[in-house]
Amino acid sequence: MAERDQTIHDLSVEATFERILSRCQPLPAQPVALAAAAGCVLAEAVIAPHALPPFANAGMDGFAVHVADLADATPQQPVVLPVAGIVQAGDAAPTPLVRGTTIRIMTGALLPAGAEAVVPLEDAEALPDAQVAFHQPPSPKRHIRLAGEDVPADTVAIPAGKLLRAAEVGLCCAFGVTTVTVIPRPTVAIISTGNELLEPHEPLVPGKIRDANSLALAVAVGEYGAQPYVAGIARDTQAELSAKLDSALAAGANLILTSAGASAGDFDVVSALMRAGDRLEVWQVKMKPGRPMLFGTYGGVPLIGLPGNPASALIVAELFVKPVIARLRGLPATLPATVPAILDAPQKGSNRRHYVRAYVSREGNEYHATTRGIGHGSGSLSTLVRGNALLVIPEGSGEVAAGSVVDAILL
Ligand code: AMP
Ligand code: MG
Repeated sequence: MAERDQTIHDLSVEATFERILSRCQPLPAQPVALAAAAGCVLAEAVIAPHALPPFANAGMDGFAVHVADLADATPQQPVVLPVAGIVQAGDAAPTPLVRGTTIRIMTGALLPAGAEAVVPLEDAEALPDAQVAFHQPPSPKRHIRLAGEDVPADTVAIPAGKLLRAAEVGLCCAFGVTTVTVIPRPTVAIISTGNELLEPHEPLVPGKIRDANSLALAVAVGEYGAQPYVAGIARDTQAELSAKLDSALAAGANLILTSAGASAGDFDVVSALMRAGDRLEVWQVKMKPGRPMLFGTYGGVPLIGLPGNPASALIVAELFVKPVIARLRGLPATLPATVPAILDAPQKGSNRRHYVRAYVSREGNEYHATTRGIGHGSGSLSTLVRGNALLVIPEGSGEVAAGSVVDAILL
C-alpha cells in the first residue's frame, strides 16, 4: 500500500465536508423551459410583463352595483334594482353599468365600467321579473379585485435566488413566462463497481449478488434535486472503470458517484485509479459507517467514491452527496440538520464519529430514539428500512448513557 498521506487520510467529517464543498460551485445559469425548471433556483428575477390581475374583476359571484344606488338600503327597506345584464368569466367588454340597475357577475369576470362594488349572491335577494333586493349598502371596492393588486406591471414578481416551486411556477404561467433563467438541475452519474454484481432483473447465480446501489443512489439523487445518470456496472478492472467514467463525462455529469472498490485492497479499482492519476483529495474518513469513502476529481468533475456496502453508501450520500447537490443547485449547503433525541439504551463511541441507525418518534415536544431491533450492519439495507434516523455519536465519546440527549438526523 502507498504511504499514508496525512493531508488526505483520516479526515474528520467537517474537514471532509469543507474539502468537498470547496471543489463544488453552483452551475452556470441557463434558460430552461418552465415545466422543466421546477425545483431549480431562479438566476434572474422574473419581472411582471403586465399587471396581475390584468383587469379589474369580480372577487365573488354576485351583483355589480353603484355604491350610491344602495346608500339607503336597510333590512326593513331594501333597495330593489332591475338586473340589466349578466357577465361571465371570460366575457370581453361587458356593457357598462347604468345607474339604478345592477349586473349579475361571476367570479373572475371583467368588471363592467362604472361598477364600484360586488354584492355577493348570498347577500342579495332574488325577486320575480329579474329584480334583486339589497338589504345594506356595500362599501366601495368590496369584492373587487383591482388590476395589478396582486403584482403591479414592471415590478419584481419573483426575485433571483428563489427556488421554483408550485407557487412560483404558477405565477410564471399567469404572466405567460414559459422560459426562465435558472441554475439547471445537476446531472449526477452513478457507477457501481464489482465483479460480483448482477443487474436487479438477473437471476442469482453462486457467488453473485444484485446491484442494490445504482438504483438506490439514483432515487436518492433524484430526491436531492439532481438528474441521475445511471452508467451501470463496471467490473473490477481499470479499463471498465475508465470506460464508465468517460461515459459519465460524455453524459455531461456535474458530479460522479462510484460505489465500492474504494478501500486499499488489490481489487479496489476506484481508489487505485484515483491514486494513480493523483486525483485523490480525501481518502478514508473518521466516521462509521462510511470509512472507505474517497473524494477527488476526474476530468475536472468532482467524484465521490462511496463505500460498496449499500447501507454505508446511502448514509454517506445523505451526509455528503445531498449538500454537494444543494451547492451545485445554488442552494445553501450544510451537513444534515439534527434534532435532539433522548436515547433509550447506551451507545458506545470510538475515535470515529458514529452514525447509528435508529427509530425516532416524536412524543409531545420530545424526540425519543431507539436502536432496538434496527441493526447496524454496513451492508444491511433493511436497517434503513426499519430505521428513520441516524444518531450522531461524536468521535472521542466513551459510552453515552441511556437517557442522554444526542443529535439525530431525521431521514
Ligand atoms: P467493496 O467496497 O468493493 O469491498 O464492497 C464492499 C461490500 O459491498 C461487498 O460485500 C460488496 O459485495 C458489496 N457491494 C458492492 N457494491 C454493491 C452493490 N452495487 N450492491 C450491493 N452490494 C454491493
Ligand atoms: Mg469490491
